[in-house]
Amino acid sequence: MPRPPTPRLSFINKVSASNKIPRQINRNLIFNQIRARQPISRADLARVSGLQRSTVSLIVEELLAERWIVEGPMGRLPRGRRPTFLNLNGQRGVLALDVHPSQTTLAVLDLSGKILSQNLIALPEDPKKVIAAIVDAIQKMIAANSERSFDGIGMSLPGRFNLQLRESNPARTNPARSIFAPNVSWPIGLVKSRVEDATGLPVVVDNVANACALSEVWFGDTDGMHDLVVVNVSEGIGTGIFANGRIIRGEGGLAGEFGHVQVDPNGLPCSCGSRGCWETVASNRAGMRYYTEIAKKPSPAFENLLKLAAAGDPAGKESIDRMCIALGRGLHMIATALAPTEIVVVGDITPLWYLVGPLVEAEMRRNPLVRVPRIRPAHEGNKARLRSAVALVMHENLL
Ligand SMILES: [Zn+2]
Repeated sequence: MPRPPTPRLSFINKVSASNKIPRQINRNLIFNQIRARQPISRADLARVSGLQRSTVSLIVEELLAERWIVEGPMGRLPRGRRPTFLNLNGQRGVLALDVHPSQTTLAVLDLSGKILSQNLIALPEDPKKVIAAIVDAIQKMIAANSERSFDGIGMSLPGRFNLQLRESNPARTNPARSIFAPNVSWPIGLVKSRVEDATGLPVVVDNVANACALSEVWFGDTDGMHDLVVVNVSEGIGTGIFANGRIIRGEGGLAGEFGHVQVDPNGLPCSCGSRGCWETVASNRAGMRYYTEIAKKPSPAFENLLKLAAAGDPAGKESIDRMCIALGRGLHMIATALAPTEIVVVGDITPLWYLVGPLVEAEMRRNPLVRVPRIRPAHEGNKARLRSAVALVMHENLL
């Protein structure tokens, strides 16, 4: 099957300069309408997209020629018309590698974002052996899915690549150093090139919060017109900022490190080398530390701490309450700085949003805000990180 040219991390930066934007936007629109409504006829596509029939036909022919979509069986409509329905090409897929400081997940997804299989990768203790273990797991996953054609590997990391540094002078850049990932102890900057060399597949890497922000837009959970901040609450806290129609990357790709804004100069040391950063008081780790302080015994894993809180355990509840208050204060800072339309929270706390959401919002509103954004957990919060891999790869491939 012909593969489109190897994608590069370039679309987002080129948006403002490109004159292909309307065509790209329409391609994206048509593809996503087919994804969301398949099987669908060309006539219905024109109706739901609001585009002219001729434009729809042109884009559909392109997407068919590139095999992103396929023609399905004929449909039956009243009055004897029999349109051909369109579907995404179910043979194509994307691999998702979601690197977490505490666990790394590898998954196979189809182009619609459906997770077809997923495994945890057991990473060796020795930092030098980690990349080999990841490469090995990916090769096995590809072999186990030999009937599928993969368009790439989307990789979300708890860190930030300095893309400019790498692209401006890749030969002289030490990739291990071109990443800010204070919660990871192995050479994470090398993983992209090693996996590309081993598999021949393009690997699209981004910070997990950026990837989730892109995913919100790609999968249409937000309209792409309004500004949005994704806050990933995990071992640390990362944010992805989507503003003015693109991900805001900042100098050195380091925009969005609100987790490392100091909120208490006398606070605990942070993995970044500073003290009292927001993530030291509002991350999962902080919640577990509060439990240890309150209950005077070691905290269970964060997942189980959430279960305790949900079950009404006083120490469990108080520790999650404290974490939520700290979270709300930080979100107040973000809302004040950026005035996004929406803040989307990703992370282990999202299944308990009915419990934590009101606490976070109350704390946020305790101090007046010029504009209060909508706050919501990510759509299918626990799958958001894996699904973002499809957005990373498809955003580059399709556009
Ligand atoms: Zn820090």
